Amino acid sequence: MMYDGIVVGGGPAGMFAAITAAKQGSKVLLLEKNDRLGKKLLITGKGRCNVTNNCTAEEVIRNVPRNGRFLFSALDSFTPTDIITFLENESCPLKTERGNRVFPVSDKSASVLYALKQAMKRYGVQVSCDAVKEIVSENNVVTSVVTGSRVYPCKWVILATGGVSYPATGSTGDGYVMAERLGHTVVSPEGSLVPLEALGEDCHRMQGLSLRNVGIKLLNAKGKLLYKDFGELLFTHFGISGPTVLSASAHLKGDRCRLLIDLKPALELEKINDRLLRDFETYKNRTMENALTDLLPRSMIPVVLDKANIPLDLQANSLRKEQRRNLVEILKAFPVEISGKRPVSEAIITSGGIKVSEVDPKTMQSKLVSGLYFAGEILDCDAYTGGFNLQIAWSTAFVAGQSVKTVIDKRTQV
Ligand SMILES: Cc1cc2nc3c(=O)[nH]c(=O)nc-3n(C[C@H](O)[C@H](O)[C@H](O)COP(=O)(O)OP(=O)(O)OC[C@H]3O[C@@H](n4cnc5c(N)ncnc54)[C@H](O)[C@@H]3O)c2cc1C
Repeated sequence: MMYDGIVVGGGPAGMFAAITAAKQGSKVLLLEKNDRLGKKLLITGKGRCNVTNNCTAEEVIRNVPRNGRFLFSALDSFTPTDIITFLENESCPLKTERGNRVFPVSDKSASVLYALKQAMKRYGVQVSCDAVKEIVSENNVVTSVVTGSRVYPCKWVILATGGVSYPATGSTGDGYVMAERLGHTVVSPEGSLVPLEALGEDCHRMQGLSLRNVGIKLLNAKGKLLYKDFGELLFTHFGISGPTVLSASAHLKGDRCRLLIDLKPALELEKINDRLLRDFETYKNRTMENALTDLLPRSMIPVVLDKANIPLDLQANSLRKEQRRNLVEILKAFPVEISGKRPVSEAIITSGGIKVSEVDPKTMQSKLVSGLYFAGEILDCDAYTGGFNLQIAWSTAFVAGQSVKTVIDKRTQV
């Protein structure tokens, strides 16, 4: 069978691009190298799949720290409301939770995958589990796709092979190599939404401790503020993780940084000082280690006292004023020296990828090779958690899927 076009990659972007192109009347083949589709989609949102964020296109862009402007047209053409409507029409009812995060009512990402598969079937998308090795072009026009066993002639290709995070799901960066061979620039991929490694033993000593309602500030080596946030974090054996830290990682570029944790964001310095005075009056005969139990989680107390140079066994009523001042400052800005990110393989999302200035934002077509399109995480765009990354996949896939027909029409007219 001769296909009009081929979609490479059976993740959310590839499947949705295939559906959109097939809806327009194209004969579409989707090639996926795994033995099944949507392996990564199934693990999203801890198996519940945070499909999108129920907000405006502008708000999505505000949550894309890298190349958000490139996505303006795509998000305008296909909004969060559009994917919600699509999935609900495909018998996948959705619900909106805290922070406008949208999930399937079933709480199972498999429901989203099923809806996509059903739509592909209905619109006649053919699926084959075969790894693509190369995209062939002649005179900068796509002509075929080569797998280990076959050559598929085609008029267009949508490359949706994802990034390089969680490689066991199939995202191993194959698309970068194929695009580079066709002349594209690949911005060096690194992890985003990834835990951070810390120097010293502090985090290790508090591993397993999760903090809610704390403020964080990420500063670079020169003390410049890179990011600030409020919410949850988690200490681990290697450093620090949790929602606020994952978002902060999107702003860390290789070098060393310092994270300051405001353990009492609702209280000003003076208020904390007053609070400590009251606690130390109540617990005046306790050691410092036991006098802070109302204020801090148990496992944090020795670490905080060490940081403030206060002996654990010092009697609360013997604490000097400057020691208390030190303690107040540590409570408002507990420092964690960051040595870098965890490896990209552990990242929720890949930052870097196909350089967006080489892609037409209105069509997702390559500016270098006619008939070559990109969709999803392969592009050098990445967002915070909250369903924004999948929205990037849906919107770019929609635009690519819609645009392939125009290319065919134009070629037929020539
Ligand atoms: C643990 C985790 C949780 C996440 N949770 C969320 C969430 O709740 N909400 C959210 O918005 N985002 C979430 N994300 C991010 C989201 O999964 C990605 O943004 C999304 O999967 C990107 O879709 P994609 O189709 O571009 O790429 P992928 O999902 O990576 O799909 C690419 C596909 O291409 C295939 N492929 C690769 N090379 C070849 C080849 N040579 N030939 C054929 N096929 C090939 C791969 O096997 C894969 O199936 C999460 C990510 C992770 C890792």
